[in-house]
Amino acid sequence: LISLRFRHRVTGLTRSAGTVDGVAGEILEESAAERGQASARTVTGSFAIRAQAVVVASGGIGANHALVRHNWPARLGEPPARMLSGVPAHVDGAMLAVAEGAGGRLINGDRMWHYVEGIANWAPIWPAHAIRILPGPSSLWFDARGNRLPVPLFPGFDTLGTLEHLRRTGFDHSWFVASRSIVAKEFALSGSEQNPDLTGRSWRQVIQRARAGMPLPVQAFLDKGEDFIVETDFSRLVARMNALGGAGLIDEAHLRAQIEARDRDADNPYGKDLQVTALRGARAYLGDRLIRTAKPHRILDPAHGPLVAVRLNILTRKSLGGLMTDLSSRVLGGDGAPVPGLYAAGEAAGFGGGGLHGYRALEGTFLGGCIFSGRIAGRAAAKAVG
Ligand SMILES: Cc1cc2nc3c(=O)[nH]c(=O)nc-3n(C[C@H](O)[C@H](O)[C@H](O)COP(=O)(O)OP(=O)(O)OC[C@H]3O[C@@H](n4cnc5c(N)ncnc54)[C@H](O)[C@@H]3O)c2cc1C
Repeated sequence: LISLRFRHRVTGLTRSAGTVDGVAGEILEESAAERGQASARTVTGSFAIRAQAVVVASGGIGANHALVRHNWPARLGEPPARMLSGVPAHVDGAMLAVAEGAGGRLINGDRMWHYVEGIANWAPIWPAHAIRILPGPSSLWFDARGNRLPVPLFPGFDTLGTLEHLRRTGFDHSWFVASRSIVAKEFALSGSEQNPDLTGRSWRQVIQRARAGMPLPVQAFLDKGEDFIVETDFSRLVARMNALGGAGLIDEAHLRAQIEARDRDADNPYGKDLQVTALRGARAYLGDRLIRTAKPHRILDPAHGPLVAVRLNILTRKSLGGLMTDLSSRVLGGDGAPVPGLYAAGEAAGFGGGGLHGYRALEGTFLGGCIFSGRIAGRAAAKAVG
């Protein structure tokens, strides 16, 4: 009933009398490449498959940085010159142009969801592979010149708001400065390799998250990550930040003064630092207290050291726009009428409809739109072809 065609790359949709009735493309050379190695792209043949209906579910555009820059909205400032990829190489957006060529309408291309806490993976699976830090609330966040980000752009608070702010600083990177205690408790990393407890389905290991100590995947980044600086001495830390981020960008005294101001409030229950207040608020919830937040402490306290600075890069992730569809996941053309035989689902359809989420989204709810629009497309196509 189901036939999977690996190593088949669709490059076109076929049409008969205005109805999409199949796909055509290239057969790629067989490949025994290990995970993390690029498989061959040598074309060994071509194929064409006819079908009663075609559902485009080819994903977003995040690995195609030229396309990301092309779609970059003015409201987010200039597109970054340097970005990392938070998605595999196959997320190239090529099928969107193919579907457009078959009469489909692309909408809301300027709606994107990229992260600002990207670190270069020391063991990349795909080109320019970035891992996102899902940060707890304690790390201090500075722009490339060492200015603390304004309230309420605290770690984990407002992804697109922070992206917009950072794009106006004139630099592509920013910095977390934290203590080792904060990193150990609050740095969660995205990606299957970074969460062996979850991917290994081990409750025993998941429970370890509540224990003290540095998770092994985070320790690997401290040891091998090109964006991580670990130092006991503050002057040395700043010198290395400047060596990595750009000579003379960060003034040591300015950076120290901001951290000391925050540290005074970490010790003071009546302190007015809003990030420390947010930290205390987060700790009122048992789950966050156990596994997501470090007990408030002074970042410059050597007992919680060494100090850790992390250069943060912009990483591409989700395309919130795509092929416009109706409520039956039928792709609509420029005239607003369905393109016969053509459906779209998942990120290729902006998670449904061509932009189900609007300009923003609720973190982590994207897969729901993929599954839902896929279900609708499948049912509608089955009904249409009897
Ligand atoms: C590291 C990471 C973490 C994420 N975390 C979350 C999260 O916590 N919550 C959440 O909701 N979302 C998350 N997402 C986003 C979510 O995973 C994606 O939006 C979702 O997987 C998209 O599903 P899709 O089926 O539309 O496309 P994809 O999963 O990208 O699948 C597209 C498929 O089409 C194939 N394809 C593409 N072009 C062609 C072609 N021309 N010919 C043949 N085949 C082609 C690809 O090989 C691929 O198999 C995350 C994504 C990543 C990368």
